[in-house]
Amino acid sequence: MAPESNLSRTSMFEGVLGYFDHAARYTRHEQGLLDQIKYCNAVFRTRFPVRLDNGRIMVMEAYRAQHSQHRLPVKGGLRFSPLVDQDTVMALAALMTFKCALMGIPFGGGKGGVKVDPRAHSLGELERITRRYATELLRKGFLGPSLDVPAPDYGTGEREMAWIADTYQSLRHDDLNALACTTGKPLVLGGIPGRREATGLGVFHGIVEALSVEDHMAALGLEPGVKDKSFIVQGLGNVGVPAAQALSEAGGRIVALAEFEGAVHHPDGLDVRKVLDHRRATGSILGMRGVHDITDTAKALELPCDVLIPAALQGQITEANAPSIQARIIAEAANGPVTPQAERILLKRGIMIIPDIYLNAGGVTVSYFEWLKNLNHVSFERMTRRYQQTAHRRLYDAMEDLAGREDIELRRKTAMDGPTERELVLSALQDTMAIAFREIHERMVADSLPDLRTSAFALAIDKIALTYENLGIFP
Ligand code: GLU
Repeated sequence: MAPESNLSRTSMFEGVLGYFDHAARYTRHEQGLLDQIKYCNAVFRTRFPVRLDNGRIMVMEAYRAQHSQHRLPVKGGLRFSPLVDQDTVMALAALMTFKCALMGIPFGGGKGGVKVDPRAHSLGELERITRRYATELLRKGFLGPSLDVPAPDYGTGEREMAWIADTYQSLRHDDLNALACTTGKPLVLGGIPGRREATGLGVFHGIVEALSVEDHMAALGLEPGVKDKSFIVQGLGNVGVPAAQALSEAGGRIVALAEFEGAVHHPDGLDVRKVLDHRRATGSILGMRGVHDITDTAKALELPCDVLIPAALQGQITEANAPSIQARIIAEAANGPVTPQAERILLKRGIMIIPDIYLNAGGVTVSYFEWLKNLNHVSFERMTRRYQQTAHRRLYDAMEDLAGREDIELRRKTAMDGPTERELVLSALQDTMAIAFREIHERMVADSLPDLRTSAFALAIDKIALTYENLGIFP
């Protein structure tokens, strides 16, 4: 029996396996291959000591799971949270495998975590924890540009990625590609413009795609499009903020924003910028004039809206609150925010779920671009910008000659410029999100699949199976 079966009934990993099994029924692969795709290949668990500022020693518990190595490197975030445990890390690593396959990103899936509350530690302590963790990973083959490439996740960011890359570089100074050992780095250290907001913007594009399908919207009693729809966003981090801002710029109404200290609500829509400024100035989302405060933040999920966007942690919508959700659509910006038990209730109630393995894939998509950039040792912009500028100028000159008019306003600078790296990255992100949604939708229609998650998993399974079959990995 697989060791995973010994995990408790509330196991998040078992939940992901449940999604897998359900979707696998709609594929035609032999059981052995499905088992290979399904289970977690390797888990590294370690404990290491860190000297605190007060001179005492604290023992840290840390993990890295490599769910699938059918493609290398393994890719996935690194989380700093008191909630980190082996089961969660394995579940999140599995989600990365299916996410990458679905999006056509040539990586296996991984995830790491340190059981630590980053807010309870000084900068120096966090640096020591991160560098020691990186050293442990490297020793065991769980870090490296061709093996395993962490990225920011809950509780980590550019700073931690820089510390890890620096630690790797100092121990592997002869590795030409050392900087590609993490993604989500600061720009000066080989990062890529747009990575910070990539997940949130991907969430926005994914919602735009899902809301444009007329049949689905009609079944929910909604008009297609983002404009005038109401949204609730839980989590004002790197994912929730850019998503909320892009949705309100596109004409959506953000009727509630929720954070751990509470939530704010206004049925006519909130000004996201103002809420963020207020939080920065006062340390809390609560207490703004003209908006309703909700002290029990979980209650914000149950307010009326068209689209509910959980963009914080897993397990936010459970069988306890699923019957009270009033949204017509749940857009899973976080990983695993809806439990499988809650999903059954929501689907029965006719609520549509845009699954995490599609919706939050913007982060890893742009991570892929960053990794490529690091391996190329040149920015995308540098190789194309001047050439495209010249090509545009020639085209406009020819059009002016043909039109025979000197005053024709085709020489506007914006039209003439070649694309910046940020523009290239963000347009490739939008394209990736659009292509993947089309594939999920087509598969769902072609095989009469019950929901978007099942379709996304079935597609991912097919793509991974194809890799195994073609690579002839089994001797
Ligand atoms: N932590 C993000 C995720 O869960 C990004 C992973 C990456 O960029 O490798 O998808």
